[in-house]
Amino acid sequence: MDPVFSPPLHRQRHQFVIDFVKRNKPKKVVDLGCSECNLLQKLKFHREIELLVGVDINGANIKKKMHGLAPMSTDYLQPSFDQLRIELYQGSVTQEDARLRGFDLVTSIELIEHLPLADVERFSKVVFGYMTPVAVIVSTPNFEFNHLFHQPAGFRHSDHKFEWTRAEFKSWALKVCLEYGYAVEFTGVGQAPPGQQERVGFCSQIGVFRRLEGRQNGNMSFGDDAEDVFQYTLLYSINYPSLHNNNILQRVLVSEVLYWAEKMKRNWIEEKTGERDDTYALCRAEWEGEECLGASEQHMEMEDKQTACGAEMKNPGEHQESELFWTNGERQQESLRLHRCVSVPLAVLWSCCPKLSALSGSLSNLRHILMNDPEVKLSHDGSAVLLNDQEQDLEEEEEDHDDLEDSGYPICSHSVETEEDWEKNV
Ligand code: SAH
Repeated sequence: MDPVFSPPLHRQRHQFVIDFVKRNKPKKVVDLGCSECNLLQKLKFHREIELLVGVDINGANIKKKMHGLAPMSTDYLQPSFDQLRIELYQGSVTQEDARLRGFDLVTSIELIEHLPLADVERFSKVVFGYMTPVAVIVSTPNFEFNHLFHQPAGFRHSDHKFEWTRAEFKSWALKVCLEYGYAVEFTGVGQAPPGQQERVGFCSQIGVFRRLEGRQNGNMSFGDDAEDVFQYTLLYSINYPSLHNNNILQRVLVSEVLYWAEKMKRNWIEEKTGERDDTYALCRAEWEGEECLGASEQHMEMEDKQTACGAEMKNPGEHQESELFWTNGERQQESLRLHRCVSVPLAVLWSCCPKLSALSGSLSNLRHILMNDPEVKLSHDGSAVLLNDQEQDLEEEEEDHDDLEDSGYPICSHSVETEEDWEKNV
């Protein structure tokens, strides 16, 4: 019976690369002979990687699943500061392309045995001599292991041009090291049955190459006389959403601010209407005009409210200017609609929501970002987010006023129209 591997051998090879990535945290990784991008699919979750590239001579293979490399909805909904760009190229590993220089890790998994031997020489020159990555992982079948397979003599795959013994692989690898300044360690995946391991070795043999210190240090050697060559064809590229992108940062901050401000408004209203007692009850609201609470009364209201995160309300006096606005811009006799508005101090939001402080860095940054956003309405001095209460018809509004007065609910009624305008029209 043929040896059975668990997990399957192809997964073990990819896991070997993933374990290497976890330990060494390369930022720029290219998978040569990426085929249907299966390894790239796994690597994209390792977000220390900032540039992930796949190359294959067979463009049709790449295209089969390349769209699976696109960001998922969670990447958009909860972007992080990590940056990831993915690029896929159709091209041959026997040809140079300047975009592949300066990588931290090059992987070549079960690729070289598909190349005619003359091309293996070119591959060595391109990868170790031109791309000069910090590390290279090369895996290839171990011919000695084939004796454990009960199959007619020959190679494991019809497209294989050769399958090397451990000695042949070693001889090639050591020559590469000598020529291009690398050190290599030999290992593998796919263990032979007990008692046979030493005799046949691993099913897939692996060489892990590391560039020797002092030899061609990444980008430093790139300013050479040779002109940059671009021989590969870009088939796909995508930038993952990242908070380093200002638009995305703004979007996340705004939605976070609106979420927390709404939540505080609701909790405060519920508390004021006696439905609950909540430590989030921070929002300050002011009645406009006659119904407005007196300043001292308001101050008492504010002082009562210590936040869950220790923030205190500031002297409400500094926020007493009224924000008045009409829904329609113009007042209408028949359906007079009025906004009421709750003002949630930015400082309270900032100190209560750790994500906001982590993302914005400082309160003034946060204010600056919000000032430019059409979705957020800030108070005149920019110190508070203004949230509209639901629009209501005037009659309902009046009823509400009574109710709210009864309940001591000091939410503000604001109108953009001046009192004069109001009087003119009634
Ligand atoms: N690395 C993949 C697939 C290996 S099969 C895996 O781990 O599953 C070998 C792949 O090498 C094929 O997709 C083939 O198209 C590609 N290939 C063969 N010759 C190539 C060349 N000269 N340059 C780039 N890719 C090549």
